[in-house]
Amino acid sequence: MQSTAGKVVVIGTGGTIAGTAARADDLLGYSSGALAAGDLVAAVPALAGQDLEAETLARLDSSDMDHATWAALRERAAFHLARGEVAAVVVTHGTDTLEETAYFLHRTLTAPKALVLTAAMRPATALSADGPQNLLDAVAVAREPGSRGVLVVLAGRVHSGAELRKLHGWRIDAFGSGDAGPLAVVEDGRLRRFRDWPEAPLHAAAASLGDAAGWPVVDIVTSHAGARARSLDALVAAGAQGIVIAGTGNGSVHRELERAARGAIAAGVPVWRASRCLLGGVVGAPADALPSAGALTPVQARIEMMLDLLAGTAA
Ligand code: ASP
Repeated sequence: MQSTAGKVVVIGTGGTIAGTAARADDLLGYSSGALAAGDLVAAVPALAGQDLEAETLARLDSSDMDHATWAALRERAAFHLARGEVAAVVVTHGTDTLEETAYFLHRTLTAPKALVLTAAMRPATALSADGPQNLLDAVAVAREPGSRGVLVVLAGRVHSGAELRKLHGWRIDAFGSGDAGPLAVVEDGRLRRFRDWPEAPLHAAAASLGDAAGWPVVDIVTSHAGARARSLDALVAAGAQGIVIAGTGNGSVHRELERAARGAIAAGVPVWRASRCLLGGVVGAPADALPSAGALTPVQARIEMMLDLLAGTAA
């Protein structure tokens, strides 16, 4: 495969890819983020001799991901992408909130070069850890001539940061791109591409995100049998400035929750309905329905609404 010369910067944020367990057969009892980014690079012999730089930004289990870390990651990634000698940036991350970090970066980071996120479902100490191959593939995609935008590489597939979703709790091949399918596959270091690199205008809020501590509070509530209006009311009373409902099926909402949602909207708190189904999103918008999050998953919609609120365009 032809590859772009230049430095690839690997930024570590933690996750299972950097996790270690006491025994090689222990796939669950490990500490996330124990290893530094440099350790992950050093564990892949095929990366030896490549122009790589590694820095460890965080050592988080990504289930504990927070907005301050997103802001810091965006800033470091933007810094490195702007360096003339840097060809691309790779970010190692946990799988649990990978979908959210990828979407946040996709909407807020200018990436004329590739920013490739990768992760692993098994800790680095596992007998057949998936992290080293994923990291190797991520660097290959980062060096692919013309690659750009926020990309995610796992289990031999390349996803757009706009489309990624975690579909399985523990299998190695745990991610998908929804109905669109992956952008590309990596086959023995070579890329077979099906679609164009992601291209989307940044969100208007990206120009002035400000301090993460001041980002609007948007919460998610799930619609289900026996749902109570009080769940949504309590979130608004606790300071939610926006609410996403993870609705049933094609974004339908229990009438109790819908009643509460209409009250929240009347009080100036936007409420969107997404779907709790893993695939499909919400299509169509009956005239009397709550606003729809469209193709966005509930966690993506939460980010989009937060950015809309920051930009003053939320409805
Ligand atoms: N809990 C881990 C994390 O998200 C899971 C993983 O990385 O696979 O950091």
